[in-house]
Amino acid sequence: MNSTFFPEGARPERPVVIAGPCSAETLEQVMATARPLSDRGIRIFRAGIWKPRTKPGGFEGVGVEGLAWLKAVKQETGMQVATEVATAKHVYECLKAGIDMLWIGARTTANPFAMQEIADALQGADLPILVKNPVSPDLDLWIGAMERIYNAGLHRIAAIHRGFSSYDKKLYRNLPQWHIPIELRRRLPEVPIFCDPSHIGGKRELIASLSQQAMDLGFDGLIVESHCDPDCAWSDASQQVTPEVLDYILNLLVIRSETQTTEPLSQLRKQIDECDNNLMQELAKRMRISREIGTFKKEHDMTILQTGRYSEILEQRGQRGEQLGMDAGFIKKVWEAIHEESVRQQLELLK
Ligand code: PEP
Ligand code: MN
Repeated sequence: MNSTFFPEGARPERPVVIAGPCSAETLEQVMATARPLSDRGIRIFRAGIWKPRTKPGGFEGVGVEGLAWLKAVKQETGMQVATEVATAKHVYECLKAGIDMLWIGARTTANPFAMQEIADALQGADLPILVKNPVSPDLDLWIGAMERIYNAGLHRIAAIHRGFSSYDKKLYRNLPQWHIPIELRRRLPEVPIFCDPSHIGGKRELIASLSQQAMDLGFDGLIVESHCDPDCAWSDASQQVTPEVLDYILNLLVIRSETQTTEPLSQLRKQIDECDNNLMQELAKRMRISREIGTFKKEHDMTILQTGRYSEILEQRGQRGEQLGMDAGFIKKVWEAIHEESVRQQLELLK
């Protein structure tokens, strides 16, 4: 695969920004968002008109009617317009309407049959396609989806990193797992990568820091959800920002030169930071559960220290650590410290 998303030898200045509402709701909302974005220099407008929703009953998009609104944006502002396609029918409608750019959503990338249908429908067309990562952290599935589009003859392909689902929702709506897009860059260096901080964070407060991290990792662009009245948005209200706030966020970004950002150490350190963050969250969860156990023991008049259980933990964790290529003694030391803190917290409950 050899993406020609950016013309050869002419990567534009970073970040290339795509912005617009999660969903097109009305012609007025689309125009009221597009105008200020265009005034602030955004050249590519996004809006979903078919919305894949996790549960039935939510707003599933305005459908084909919205294509005319995107055409109006294009006509009035000169911006390029992009929307999400999930079926062959969506593709035909978009091609007919002259939409400039299409993206494939995370739920669709995860489904090879759907991807093939879309690729077949695209055959013979020539427009840039952005492929979001699949919901699950599976790099081959992501690359496979891009290959299907590429094999259909569309070579202007870019990837969008929008984070990965996890059962346990924590700080992020979708975990960034930065090592996955980093590995994508290593395997397919010519495929531009956009970061979608809106869907990773799920909260508008996280957009700035996620965008900065993406820039520090050498990402090419950002796709950010922006709405003229975010709190009243029909979908993803908590993660959208006004065009004014988006402009403010973009102006604060520090763009380091390519030579610095591809420095291997900084990428590896980002991964270490992410590992530590995950360890910390798991540790906090472990302590919470331990306090629940403490409450149970208290209510049932049980002793806090149950020696059998303690030895079993140290033994099993040591063995497991060894299987994972670590030193059993080191692992025992770590779990002694964790257990000690657990006991201390359970004792606190008795005070
Ligand atoms: C979107 O971009 O609005 C969207 C539905 O994204 P994702 O496929 O990443 O969930
Ligand atoms: Mn959205």
